[in-house]
Amino acid sequence: THFGFRTVPETSKETLVKDVFNSVASKYDLMNDAMSFGVHRLWKDTFVSLLKPGKSGAIRCLDVAGGTGDIALRILDYAKDNYADRETSVEVLDINSEMLKEGYKRFKKTMYHKSARIVSFIEGNAQKLELPPSTYDLYTIAFGIRNCTSIPDVLKEAHRVLKPGGTFACLEFSKVDNPILATIYENYSFSIIPLLGTILASDRASYQYLVESIRRFPPQSQFGQMIRDAGFETGGDFEGEGGAWRDLWGGVASIHTGVKI
Ligand code: SAM
Repeated sequence: THFGFRTVPETSKETLVKDVFNSVASKYDLMNDAMSFGVHRLWKDTFVSLLKPGKSGAIRCLDVAGGTGDIALRILDYAKDNYADRETSVEVLDINSEMLKEGYKRFKKTMYHKSARIVSFIEGNAQKLELPPSTYDLYTIAFGIRNCTSIPDVLKEAHRVLKPGGTFACLEFSKVDNPILATIYENYSFSIIPLLGTILASDRASYQYLVESIRRFPPQSQFGQMIRDAGFETGGDFEGEGGAWRDLWGGVASIHTGVKI
């Protein structure tokens, strides 16, 4: 398996983000479960099942900010289990080598590790992909784009590396619409998550950062517009404006998709 360690120029925010994920890499999966009561698993399942990888034959996927490979593994499983597709491949790209190492370890225990063609790991920056244009059928980014300095740069790169007709898909924490739910969620995220970070990972600051990054992320409609501005068509059958997105749990998270035109 190709396990690249290409270094990329970093801004200070990227260095910070890298440090955050360095310090949480080994606890990352545990923390995810604890913080979301395991719900992130269901959201990821929903995300991948909406994309139906393998439905129209084997495809080439790029999972950006792929971390420990949660989405990659689901894509491969979905294609295999639903369409007997064992040819679909995923390249997992992340800025943080510690996260990739955890993912690599994990894939070594699965049936996919035998073929470097099926899954590979690349260290790289979502804002400046060192990958050829018009290469992928599916670009996924789950809980990663809010950590990036420039969302437009990420979208521009996604558009560049996708084939015409290829799909961009993003799963991200989002904005809760209902005011009562929103209050409960704010209280939860601003007190409980950093507390869990302290208890489970002895790292309050990193989790504080994660909560703040969620707060700063643009609301669904604005993000949908950014996707269109990058050259994608968002007219799916989702309920969000312009068919751009689907809310999960009233907007705690949302799924946005776009097709490269
Ligand atoms: N997609 C995985 C999942 O859903 O479990 C991981 C999500 S994790 C919350 C966010 C990931 O984004 C981290 O692994 C981090 O290293 C990565 N990341 C942050 N900034 C990045 C960037 N500019 N380019 C690529 N990856 C980045």
